Amino acid sequence: MLDLIHLSLPPQTAVSLKTLVQNSLKSLHLSGPSGEPFSPEQFDAAVMTTYGRFPLALTRGQGCYVWDDQGQRYLDFVAGIATCTLGHAHPAMVAAVSQQIQTLHHVSNLYYVPEQGALAQWLVQHSCADRVFFCNSGAEANEGAIKLARKYAHTRRGVANPIILTARASFHGRTLATVTATGQPKYQKNFDPLMPGFAYVTYNDIADLEARVAELDRDQPQVAAIMLEALQGEGGVCPGDPAYFQRLRQLCDQTGILLILDEVQVGMGRTGRLWGYENLGLEPDIFTSAKGLGGGIPIGATLCKQFCDVFEPGDHASTFGGNPFACKVGLTVCQTLEAENLLANVQQRGEQLRFGLQRLVQQYPALLKEVRGWGLINGLVLSAETSVQAGDVVKAAMAQGLLLVPAGPQVVRFVPPLIVTADQVQEALMTLEKALALL
Ligand code: PLP
Repeated sequence: MLDLIHLSLPPQTAVSLKTLVQNSLKSLHLSGPSGEPFSPEQFDAAVMTTYGRFPLALTRGQGCYVWDDQGQRYLDFVAGIATCTLGHAHPAMVAAVSQQIQTLHHVSNLYYVPEQGALAQWLVQHSCADRVFFCNSGAEANEGAIKLARKYAHTRRGVANPIILTARASFHGRTLATVTATGQPKYQKNFDPLMPGFAYVTYNDIADLEARVAELDRDQPQVAAIMLEALQGEGGVCPGDPAYFQRLRQLCDQTGILLILDEVQVGMGRTGRLWGYENLGLEPDIFTSAKGLGGGIPIGATLCKQFCDVFEPGDHASTFGGNPFACKVGLTVCQTLEAENLLANVQQRGEQLRFGLQRLVQQYPALLKEVRGWGLINGLVLSAETSVQAGDVVKAAMAQGLLLVPAGPQVVRFVPPLIVTADQVQEALMTLEKALALL
């Protein structure tokens, strides 16, 4: 990527960029299989340190494997954090990207975009939704859902000060509205004043939900929507309880409160069903998708049922949202999920992975507590007694050639591409076992 930027800029622009970042781009440009060693210091001098990064530069990918700038191969059970649905360099994606960039990659939403229409049609035919708005990320998709719910509450229910209820330990994004929706103070610290109109409940706790709604709606209706993840991903891979969600659906039906599900991490087949809500026996009024929808090409979507589609021209927009390039790739991901029967693969590989991880839990009871998850989003929970943190396991696995990602300090998350094979799951389990033995 940096190489591409460097090569495509006119010389004087490249020079001024170099000056700006004190030659650090030049050093990065030299990194790679035949270049000089990658320097994290040079990178950090130019890029804001919003991430605690591992000292690893990945430069190539194929299927479920990625290679670093030293030529070292890793089995990728991170997949860009549940994003590279079809792995790396999948032929269908390569063909779609190449064809669309040569045909038409971007036009304004002032015009009809056939690829956008085709992707929207696929999504409504394969979900409970009737309408789709396209954007570029999960946070933006959730912003769209929040705006839609607020407008619905104002215009259809006469709610003057709409409140959206979200769950503690949730994750909905990093914009101001979605970081407020995210029920984790660590993400909100120093960003106040937060957005008004949000309140929190405890996930999977029916009594807490009923009490909170009763309290907020005591004098007049205030609760516009309840927004939850079908399975809390960043919050530690905690699956939703079907009984809780079905009671929630009833409550929403009785009151007119909208049910929004954030499917950014679990949608698009990751749980072994196309949408996370299919694991819970209900349909949301609004749901959001991103991550896996583009297989690594940025795209997000806010989807809703007809009755709550209250957006009118001018209400909401996105310059890049739904452009031909992203939508062509999104449609390719959707069609490949079907053509390669990937939902069945997710179910089988998920079972295989959980079975293997459970054996490791039995083998290392002082270190590991339990395994939880659906399909190919699984968490290995560390025991309360151990001083080992999820990050330590991730580092140990990385040293053995397996990429994993924490979901909080005590959960190691496994979110491989949905094309992962039985042999690769076996390889991941064996590699993890080697790493655990060294901890
Ligand atoms: N919602 C959920 C459930 C997520 O897991 C994430 C990202 O991890 C987001 C929203 C934010 O998505 P993005 O980073 O694309 O804005």
